[in-house]
Amino acid sequence: MRKDEFPEKIFAPQTGDMSAEDFRRHGYQMIDWIADYFQNIEQLPVLAQIDPNWLKDNLPKSAPEDGEDFSEVLKDVDRLILPAVTNWNHPNFHGLFSTSSSAAGIFGELLSAAFDQKAMLWRASPASTELEEVVLEWLRQMMNLDAGLKGIIYDTASVSTLHAIAAAREGLNLRVREDGMSGREDLPLLRVYTSEQSHSSVEKAVLLLGLGQKGLRKIETDEQFRMRPDKLREAIEEDKANGFIPFCVVATVGTTSTASVDPIEEIVPVCEENVMWLHVDAAYAGSAAIVPELQNCLKGCERADSVVTNPHKWLFTPFDLSVLYCRHLDLLKRAFSLVPEYLKTNETVTNQMDYGIQLGRRFRALKLWFVIRYFGQNGLIDRIREHCRLTKLLASWIEKSEDWELLAPVNFALVCFRACPENVGDLNAFNEDLMNSINASGEAYISHTKLNGKFTLRLSIGSIRVEEKHIENVWNLLNKNLTF
Ligand code: PLP
Repeated sequence: MRKDEFPEKIFAPQTGDMSAEDFRRHGYQMIDWIADYFQNIEQLPVLAQIDPNWLKDNLPKSAPEDGEDFSEVLKDVDRLILPAVTNWNHPNFHGLFSTSSSAAGIFGELLSAAFDQKAMLWRASPASTELEEVVLEWLRQMMNLDAGLKGIIYDTASVSTLHAIAAAREGLNLRVREDGMSGREDLPLLRVYTSEQSHSSVEKAVLLLGLGQKGLRKIETDEQFRMRPDKLREAIEEDKANGFIPFCVVATVGTTSTASVDPIEEIVPVCEENVMWLHVDAAYAGSAAIVPELQNCLKGCERADSVVTNPHKWLFTPFDLSVLYCRHLDLLKRAFSLVPEYLKTNETVTNQMDYGIQLGRRFRALKLWFVIRYFGQNGLIDRIREHCRLTKLLASWIEKSEDWELLAPVNFALVCFRACPENVGDLNAFNEDLMNSINASGEAYISHTKLNGKFTLRLSIGSIRVEEKHIENVWNLLNKNLTF
């Protein structure tokens, strides 16, 4: 596109960034676009209805030589990007864990991009460093977590858990930082324990820390998909007798498949007796602990060494924002702090680069601060409480119907169930087809897991836009598809 051929268009200046005037013009356009998107989101399919490679085939193979009017770029968002978007913010997004952002959170992202902080040193971003401390203390109080747990923000729960296990390993004083793990005859097998229902991020953390799959032992669960403390104890005793070093247990509050809750209070004494680190993965369900009547789900965590919770899952904060609450920030620092000359400063302050693998860190606390201030504790509690009410309502319809059955206890805002109409031979294939046909309709998105060999539909309720009518919609859709 040549500038002289399009005098009405607005191009980037010869040097420097967009003018303030153009920024304002396009900025209003952008905000209008987002407002319309949210207003009309229910007219869009929940799952992108494109075939693989559609977007790639429709985009130029190389970058434009000259800049374009930003309005043209926005037109391509409508034409090319939107059809390829899976609409996580749609109220009938019920797959995986249904999560959604909020307007206040989006404003936080916008401002954070404008400030573009790389919060490595306090000096590089006092605002990010100090706001993070304050807002994580607010959240800790809201969740009624023990005051000994101090928070730090990472991008995802996968990374939070990785850091927790690294700190646990550092606490063993085995000179892993100095000497590594390979080629050492003095180092027996180090083991982490987690339930067979835990998230794959635990295994990935173990892989990344060089402990190997052998370094992870998966513990049996009971009929409600909760880790069995007796089996945990047995496994640790057996491993110790074989000369291994059990050093960390990762328990889950709100497992991915069924939202089951491991019995933390019974796992704590096993960890304490064996001097092991207890990390609690509350990535999904941690947010529920802000609701007084659900706070019990974290009972026992006052004796845990670390807890991860993801406000980007169920606290209406745009992805990404995961919080690791840790009782031993000193160990985290010992595992990760490495200060080259050019980053040395003489203030006595927190430098967040010391607590993880990343140097520069995004100003993520801003969006969480906006969300908490805009909704207030009560607004957030009301929303989570309503999701749980809608979940119970749906579960009650399932329980009453001959054609459906629940396959796991209903915890928080997740229902695990399947269709079981009479005269269907292969229920697994039937339910898989049913899920695929609902997802292909674009009207709703549900996902699945396998429980005791049964193909299980998972329906999660967590969108900030979800109302009772959306749950009625999806229930009608499920029933309509019983006879497809
Ligand atoms: N832990 C649990 C229980 C989860 O359900 C998930 C994701 O759904 C994770 C960890 C990983 O979360 P993230 O995507 O933040 O790494």
